[in-house]
Amino acid sequence: MAVLDTAPLAAHTGASVVVERCQVCDHAPLSQVLFLGYLPPVNQMRTIGQLPREQPAYPALVLSCPRCSLVQLGLIVDKEILFPPDYPYTSGTTKILRDNFAELYEESQTIVSMGPQDLAVDIGSNDGTLLGNFQRGGHRVQGIEPSQVGNLANQRGIPTTIGFFGRALAEQTRKQHGPAKIVTATNVFAHIEHIHEIVESILLLMDENGVFVSESHYLLALVEMLQYDTIYHEHLRHYSLQSLQYLLQMHGLEVIHARRIPTHGGSIRVYAARAGAYPVRPSVGEILMNEAAAGLDAEHLRTFKDRVVQSKLELYGLLRDIKRHGHRVYGIGAPSRASTLINYVGLDDGILDCVLEIAGSLKIGKYMPGTLIPVMEESRLYKDQPEYVLLLSWHIADELIPKLRQKGYKGKYICPLPTPEIV
Ligand SMILES: [Zn+2]
Repeated sequence: MAVLDTAPLAAHTGASVVVERCQVCDHAPLSQVLFLGYLPPVNQMRTIGQLPREQPAYPALVLSCPRCSLVQLGLIVDKEILFPPDYPYTSGTTKILRDNFAELYEESQTIVSMGPQDLAVDIGSNDGTLLGNFQRGGHRVQGIEPSQVGNLANQRGIPTTIGFFGRALAEQTRKQHGPAKIVTATNVFAHIEHIHEIVESILLLMDENGVFVSESHYLLALVEMLQYDTIYHEHLRHYSLQSLQYLLQMHGLEVIHARRIPTHGGSIRVYAARAGAYPVRPSVGEILMNEAAAGLDAEHLRTFKDRVVQSKLELYGLLRDIKRHGHRVYGIGAPSRASTLINYVGLDDGILDCVLEIAGSLKIGKYMPGTLIPVMEESRLYKDQPEYVLLLSWHIADELIPKLRQKGYKGKYICPLPTPEIV
């Protein structure tokens, strides 16, 4: 295996590592795009009533590589800090995700036709929702999942190995089940530290005519919709097709098809195979051309920074006018991205009275990271009828607003991004 992961790893150090060279191509120095300040760890939330105490915060500096164009965070934090043992692993199987996975299966069969004996392996397979589609299609499936949620998949009849994917697990899986015709990895490539070992391990696992399908949050969607709130330490990298292609090419993989998909506020699905194994579809050239036209290099990303700053000021201005009238504002939803927005914009418990989560959420009864804003049950919304709500899961506003209205909320909705507005 080519030794490409040269930087020291943060994993198991209990600390963090500064990114001095590009995580993919090793180029230095990297260009600075945007600094969101120091962010507290998203998944360490204190119980309501506890006094604030010493707590770490990690710099969120966004960097861009002039050589391979990869956008990446300037600090890698040990995943044991980011995902403490009591971290509520959620399956995240919303309707939009379930539909997306069903559609991934259908689309993949137009590219690589699989027979009953062919194997599909999903890396980061969660509760097995994606593999369920391949299983119903009559193929053999195998999941690999680091968290205990993999047991849920096993109970549902989706065979799943619990463990961190890497060379050892790739070899073991191939030995036990044979090579995979399809390897999938959705929302994995942004999270894992030793990315080159992951790609090499996928190659190890893949049949000569195998296809690798990845889904990642898409840099162009981030820039277009000003989704700076997706920048936090769980996301080490934000991919464009160009930067993903660069990484895959380093390992002899060719991108054969790519498509934008709606999950997580805008993602990209990318198919790759060993160079020359499959024809390259026109979608690849088209998306690369769109990216070039939009400008995702360091120079163009400076405009992005200006827009982010402007958006922060506008949200502050809008909230100032509302608070001046003595109105209440409740936040809706406490996903990880809410913590970035709240901390970067500087919202506190004098501005946001509380953040509401659906009953059963493990975040209820805690404070939002870095603040004394309490997280409470959504039922309060209908009792209290605050004048305004701030949609912290604004990327699913179209789904959210009708639901809240139907359940009886009568106030107004603030959508914070891309342009803060009352909808
Ligand atoms: Zn690079």
